[in-house]
Amino acid sequence: MSDSATSYAFQAEVQQLLDIVINSLYTDKEIFVRELVSNASDALEKMRRYSLTEGEYFDSDLPLEINITTDDSANTFTIADYGIGMTREELVENIGTIAHSGSKQFLRAMSESEQKESNLIGQFGVGFYSAFMVAEEVQVYTHSWKAEGEHLCWTSDGRTGYAIEESPGQRRGCKIVVKLKKDFEEFSKEWRIKSVLETYSSFVPFPVNLNGERINKIEALWLKNKNEVSDDEYNEFYKFIAHAPEEPAFRMHFSADAPLAINALIFTPKENPEKLLSGPVDPGVSLYCKKVLIAEQPKGLLPEWLRFLKGVIDSADLPLNISRESMQDSALVQKINRLITKRFLKSLESEAKDDSEKYDAFFTKFNRFIKEGIATDFEHRDALAKLLRFESTFTDPGKYTDLASYIDRAKDDQQQIYYIIGPSRDAIEAGPYLEAFKARGLEVIFFFEPIDDYVVNALAKYEEKDLVSIDRDDIKLDDTAQPEGEALDKSASKKLCKWIQSELGDRVKEVRVGDRLIDSPAIALTPDDGMNAQVRQMMKAMNQDVGATKVILELNPRHEVVKKLATASEERPDLAKLVTAQIFDNALLSAGLLEESKDMVSRIYDIIDKAL
Ligand code: ADP
Repeated sequence: MSDSATSYAFQAEVQQLLDIVINSLYTDKEIFVRELVSNASDALEKMRRYSLTEGEYFDSDLPLEINITTDDSANTFTIADYGIGMTREELVENIGTIAHSGSKQFLRAMSESEQKESNLIGQFGVGFYSAFMVAEEVQVYTHSWKAEGEHLCWTSDGRTGYAIEESPGQRRGCKIVVKLKKDFEEFSKEWRIKSVLETYSSFVPFPVNLNGERINKIEALWLKNKNEVSDDEYNEFYKFIAHAPEEPAFRMHFSADAPLAINALIFTPKENPEKLLSGPVDPGVSLYCKKVLIAEQPKGLLPEWLRFLKGVIDSADLPLNISRESMQDSALVQKINRLITKRFLKSLESEAKDDSEKYDAFFTKFNRFIKEGIATDFEHRDALAKLLRFESTFTDPGKYTDLASYIDRAKDDQQQIYYIIGPSRDAIEAGPYLEAFKARGLEVIFFFEPIDDYVVNALAKYEEKDLVSIDRDDIKLDDTAQPEGEALDKSASKKLCKWIQSELGDRVKEVRVGDRLIDSPAIALTPDDGMNAQVRQMMKAMNQDVGATKVILELNPRHEVVKKLATASEERPDLAKLVTAQIFDNALLSAGLLEESKDMVSRIYDIIDKAL
């Protein structure tokens, strides 16, 4: 220390903080780079503002930029900014005492917590002092922007206080030299610092140069005005942040000042990122505060089902040091979550209005996410339901419609929305379920995946109308569509039902005749306490034990086969037994409930044999 140096002791709190920082085992040491870059950026931003209002100031010809240099022979990391710098009083005030609210919180949490200090550092970020995690000694060379400031050098090992001495020849701003501990030599290597800067500081609003080469070349488009950004710029930006080869499908650029200062630029990729994966992808929207990355893939920033999105949310209201762990609990993050989710859903809705073909193509690839949202996210369920697409008895194969159009087309007195879940459109259309609805001009929605059962059950209603599966036994249909032809009379019907019931035993809950069928002889209906085919399939996939489903077998008393069966049950019981078993299996097959089909073929031969 030279003669002109003055020694100072750290304020007790700073000393306490430094002891913890130096002795901690916190593993993410690299965050010190982010903290120093962000301080430099703040100092430059202040300088930029002063330069607009103040006429004369020190070194006014210097550019507003950050220069970082690494020197692996001297084992140092150096960061210099041409920001506002500090006077002697400011050095004492700003980095000799705790000014930083994050550091204060950190100390408070430390004294309250049983936790080992190491993760608390990561949670709060300790600003400038984080350099002491990796430093043997830190020097801050500085000259204030004020012309009367001194040329100074602040030095500390973080243990014994600090000294300030004169150091002629300083430029405006701060140059911080971090003399690294032996264990942290890595931070004197260019490649290492480059990767840290690319992670955290890609969008810092001033040029960041590493050993003379500019690192942050991409602009933070999300803070610009929409009409200042071209499609090409947006697309390039997307490719950069998403590491994507092609353009996005949709984008949403949103800004607000109140109630939250927020800027968001969010992209929907062209392809479903989970298409070839077995598990869910990590969320892809990062959280920034004034262009400095706070968390790259924070959970809880958006709902889980929006994990396919890529982009940036930036809120100036966020503290830079918000903890990653407490992120989900932060009221502010929850507000952001709600606001952006709502906005995103609205923007998708308007994309769908503007270009339904494009939206439909998106839906085909991404419907899993929308459906997952409906099943899991109560708050956004109604908005998501508007985005649902499906085929129906009123659409051409492969063409979509939606719930709003369904309701528009429905008759005024139709209280329910009808749907059916089956393996494919062809399979459903070949089965007996649609007949009654077609005959009455009622539209039926097609769903083709087992998860759709969860989705419609979660949704339950749309615009006050219940969603009802058409295989339910308890549907009441009007009798406007009385089927033609003479029916088996009451007593013959009763007798036949009884006979079939005794044939099928406890495989059926009930056998009865009804009006639902037109062209088919029989249909299997799910009783209101029964399990449908989709639930069974899912439970089986989860290796759960599922007993046989007892269905209700409804017969069409006008159908020739049924009428002939009534006669045969008395005159040719052997044949009637075979036919009954076959009718029942056919009904189960259409319901997706047939578990054993091995008897079918031989039985059919038996029937043929008897018929010939
Ligand atoms: P924070 O940046 O959150 O206030 P820090 O502990 O990182 O907390 O820094 C304390 C203070 O030191 C800052 O508020 C600022 O006044 C001053 N400071 C730090 N780095 C610089 C810099 N590069 N240029 C000017 N002032 C700085």
